[in-house]
Amino acid sequence: MIPYGRQEIGDDDVEAVATVLRSEWLTQGPAVPRFERAVAGRCGAAHALAVNSATSALHLACLALGLGQGDLLWTTPITFVASANCARYCGAEVDFVDIDPCTCNMSVAALAEKLARAAVAGRLPKIVVPVHFAGRPCDMAAIHALGQRYGFRIVEDASHAIGASYRGEPVGNCRYSDITVFSFHPVKIITTGEGGMALTNDAALAETMALLRSHGITRDPARMDHEPDGPWYYQQIALGFNYRMTDIQAALGLSQLQRLDAFVARRRELAERYQQHLTDLPLTLPGETPEERSAWHLYVIRLRREQIRRTHREVFAALRAAGIGVNLHYIPVHTQPYYRQLGFRPGDFPEAERYYAEAISLPMYAALGDDQQDEVISAVAEAVSA
Ligand SMILES: *Cc1c(COP(=O)(O)O)cnc(C)c1O
Repeated sequence: MIPYGRQEIGDDDVEAVATVLRSEWLTQGPAVPRFERAVAGRCGAAHALAVNSATSALHLACLALGLGQGDLLWTTPITFVASANCARYCGAEVDFVDIDPCTCNMSVAALAEKLARAAVAGRLPKIVVPVHFAGRPCDMAAIHALGQRYGFRIVEDASHAIGASYRGEPVGNCRYSDITVFSFHPVKIITTGEGGMALTNDAALAETMALLRSHGITRDPARMDHEPDGPWYYQQIALGFNYRMTDIQAALGLSQLQRLDAFVARRRELAERYQQHLTDLPLTLPGETPEERSAWHLYVIRLRREQIRRTHREVFAALRAAGIGVNLHYIPVHTQPYYRQLGFRPGDFPEAERYYAEAISLPMYAALGDDQQDEVISAVAEAVSA
């Protein structure tokens, strides 16, 4: 089976991890701050905090921005559940903004309309979480302008988008947001096994996230309520978590980061080959623009169902039967039982639900060879023509 995504681990990666294993520090050593500085430098953000997952980074971001009971967070329904769950961890409510069928990102027009209605009702969100779906950046300048007008904060869920760029600048520089979050899960662009990062230009947000990442414990005398009792002394000044990344993971991340450009270049090449060979089929293909350059985390085709005899489910099954590990990203979050139990209903976000009835993720990863991709292309042509 050709999977839809997978990591690419080279000898340099193995060597980098082995070096840490032979060293004094497996965690809280020098590799984590080195990885943080490297990602911050590469993305042009002032601060970066490595954590054990993007889910943890989203949670810390919400806490640092003061999200709590009675507050509201808005995100897109076409995302992984973590983009919404972070609000629930803080006791806040979630709502969704329907997608733009062309980019599959949160629709800026729908966001603007919903904000205008929410302003009248006095229920504006405290945080909006745009997700750069499949690696294609959202229109951040427009979302930022709405944030200025309606007073919400912005956390970019860039789990798909390290290596992407918006208006010529790297995603992660937080020019249009308070915090940006990356994931380093093995199917993402670069990996640390499990891992994530939160980037920000705001020193106070960085400091709060750093505190909460490690139990709310500080060793900084300036933050204590009295002089340290001695050299052993620390104080817990908030309720934090253990969301730390290990040095083993950070060493892998640093090594992977060296190949980020090569990974994204290969993904773009694969996207161009798909575009070239699938263009005459009854499919809607994903794209990018010079302003919104994708990292090509996913390659999602949409079936033009009125032109295909088979159903969506049958096309999907035919591809799986042909040895193509297709997948579906994502089941609209508001239709999950957990969210239905909070009051959401099928029909609430029609563009997201239409997307769900048509979408299939094809294999897309740097290690995918041309021959394998040709197999995928033939199988797709066969599946939608039968
Ligand atoms: C993968 C992913 C996450 C969660 O990342 P983890 O590192 O696995 O916690 C969050 N949001 C989106 C959009 C993702 O794709």
